[in-house]
Amino acid sequence: MNYPLSEEERIIQKTARDFATKDLAPVAEAANKEGTFPDEVYTKLGELGFMGITVPEEYGGVGLNNFSLVLVLEEISRVCASTAVTMSVHNSLTNWAIKTYGSEDLKKRYLPRLATAEILGAYALTEPSAGSDVSSVRMSAVKKGNEYILNGTKIFISTGNKAGAVIVFARTNPDDRKHGLSAFVVEPDFPGFSVGKIEKKMGLKASTTVELVFEDCRVPEENLLGEEGAGMKIALAGLDGGRIGIAAQSVGIAQAAMDEAVKFSRERIQFNKRIIDFQSTRWKIADMATAIEAARLLIYRVAKLRDEGQPCSKEASMAKLFASRTANRTAYDALQIHGGVGYTEEFLIERLYRDARVTEIYEGTSEIQRLVISKRVIEEYEKSMPE
Ligand SMILES: Cc1cc2nc3c(=O)[nH]c(=O)nc-3n(C[C@H](O)[C@H](O)[C@H](O)COP(=O)(O)OP(=O)(O)OC[C@H]3O[C@@H](n4cnc5c(N)ncnc54)[C@H](O)[C@@H]3O)c2cc1C
Repeated sequence: MNYPLSEEERIIQKTARDFATKDLAPVAEAANKEGTFPDEVYTKLGELGFMGITVPEEYGGVGLNNFSLVLVLEEISRVCASTAVTMSVHNSLTNWAIKTYGSEDLKKRYLPRLATAEILGAYALTEPSAGSDVSSVRMSAVKKGNEYILNGTKIFISTGNKAGAVIVFARTNPDDRKHGLSAFVVEPDFPGFSVGKIEKKMGLKASTTVELVFEDCRVPEENLLGEEGAGMKIALAGLDGGRIGIAAQSVGIAQAAMDEAVKFSRERIQFNKRIIDFQSTRWKIADMATAIEAARLLIYRVAKLRDEGQPCSKEASMAKLFASRTANRTAYDALQIHGGVGYTEEFLIERLYRDARVTEIYEGTSEIQRLVISKRVIEEYEKSMPE
């Protein structure tokens, strides 16, 4: 890929690629087959600085930017999409929320431990009645003395049973859908916090997705993130970064699927020919390569916009929509190129195909990305057009 990366960006990309191929690949294979969570991987990622990429150095991070984060996420995802989602939630959502909205006390208490992977981060927004519709969050947070008492259930929380710091969204004002939501940093040993159902998923088997139950869970008032009532603002702003992370994860999956398709089709002979020499295979490869390149450029652009502090919700949704579609199409075609063996666990493409699927669902479904994009595009037209 010829995108002009700086010397520093190339080093970051190469460090991530070397780690992924040498250290992560052997562990990822077994963890995804057995459905285990490879704790030791995160310790190593912490040592490399990849669990605190955008955390300032004064709080124990490496003080880099979102552009560096997407370079790393793509490389990790090429080898293990489960590791990439755990890293994305940790860096793009948890670290980001505490760095951006946390008090000095919260930053000092959590960021150094998150940046070194001493603890992992999770982000708990979804509830049984609040998926795409974030404003339907029902979980309550009632102030009592110098604590908030949280009651409710969160579902589908990535890393929820492994995290030492969970960003939890709960309603401090039940009558105000927009400004009644607040965000808290919750630790698993706070009284009243427990892990419920652990999901058995189609893919991403080396990551965990769990229910979190809050029964009179006592959270110290100092663990309120930002102002009371700022929850919706934090949740929506967080989704921009989260979507960029999932877009990078998607491109990693797509690139890995294309790599597998090319490798396989150079070796497989049918009708006395390598199947890569059939035009139908070449056209698939051409479409894969073009879409991957386009997705990558959308991601690079939006990461740069976010680093410049510019509004980028439309661009983040575009990158996520296109990259997740590309991951699914590429995995589909790459499996087709494998024929029957692609449908067996013997070949990596089977895992990539399953892992790709969720990229069109979490951090906002493709339908929700289209809502965000069309709303902004129409607003832009209406601003520029006379009545
Ligand atoms: C593996 C995994 C990990 C996850 N990790 C996390 C996590 O760490 N933290 C967290 O908070 N959540 C997490 N989630 C939840 C995820 O973000 C939600 O599943 C997602 O936002 C969709 O919500 P939902 O499942 O309730 O679907 P629904 O909102 O019920 O949507 C169902 C269908 O209706 C469509 N739909 C809904 N509203 C509209 C509309 N207005 N217009 C058109 N179509 C619409 C959707 O596009 C979808 O096709 C995770 C989910 C999975 C599967």
